Amino acid sequence: MNTPPALNGAIAANKVHHWLRAWYGADVPEAIDLDVVRQMLPTTPYGKGVREIRPPVQFNDDAFEGLLARDPGDPQVWGIAYNGSVSPERQRFTIAHELGHFVLHRDRQPRFHCDKESVHSGHETMRLIEREADDFASNLLMPGDRLREWISNRRIDLHVLSAIAKRFQVSFEALCIRFIKFTPQRAILVYWDNGYAKYEWRSSSAVRTRARIRRSGDPQEPLPGTLAADASVEQAWDGVEMSAAIWCPEEAPHMKLREFKHSYTSRDRVLTLLLLESAEPRAWDRSWQDGETLDAVNWRQ
Ligand SMILES: [Zn+2]
Repeated sequence: MNTPPALNGAIAANKVHHWLRAWYGADVPEAIDLDVVRQMLPTTPYGKGVREIRPPVQFNDDAFEGLLARDPGDPQVWGIAYNGSVSPERQRFTIAHELGHFVLHRDRQPRFHCDKESVHSGHETMRLIEREADDFASNLLMPGDRLREWISNRRIDLHVLSAIAKRFQVSFEALCIRFIKFTPQRAILVYWDNGYAKYEWRSSSAVRTRARIRRSGDPQEPLPGTLAADASVEQAWDGVEMSAAIWCPEEAPHMKLREFKHSYTSRDRVLTLLLLESAEPRAWDRSWQDGETLDAVNWRQ
């Protein structure tokens, strides 16, 4: 075994950050240089028995997102391939994900084929390792301490989140999911695909205060009276204030929320962010800082 059993994506990425700080001898750049990580890994305990990870190569095939494979002719060499037809931010995430498989799973199999859906739709073992590789990529590209520093004590809107995504050079969607994990605010993120909810995430304080979206049925459709349901509104990056009960029927009548909306140009995909008022007028406890619990609902099993 190359890795102790307790290793997971977040712990491994933290360790890599530690080595990166030593590598740079200073602050690690905001946008992690994955080429540095790739070259560094074989020189660390995570690269035991490996001489080289070759520079990633592009392919243009939408059948999958990325690939990690051992060189059949040289077991000390590994290679990464990634879908070159997607945005540079997604390419980066894929490469980071494959580096995650390299660190966490390469003693299990010589080859990993990854696509975006296998995190949700593959069989259990596959879902687990895909999620671990995603966790590694998220933690590597968007370190929690930095993100927490950037989102704390400021008013959040989609302009702020978009600017942070640019600093990390990650996709807006990846950043929003990460934001939900770290925000102390009550927040809910819904990702709509062709008019139906595909994924939903709730922040830990939203879970604790039982903020829940009204169920319209399965599949979930946008609720009447929301921006999500209003086809004439494509973008609402500043947010619109409304009664929280429009979205969450169990919220008290005086509760407000801000609904934000981002529509993607390429396909019929929409991101909804809801920021709810605090349910209790007291300082938040610190349990959200564990940061590793995330309530996610997948609407398309
Ligand atoms: Zn994978």
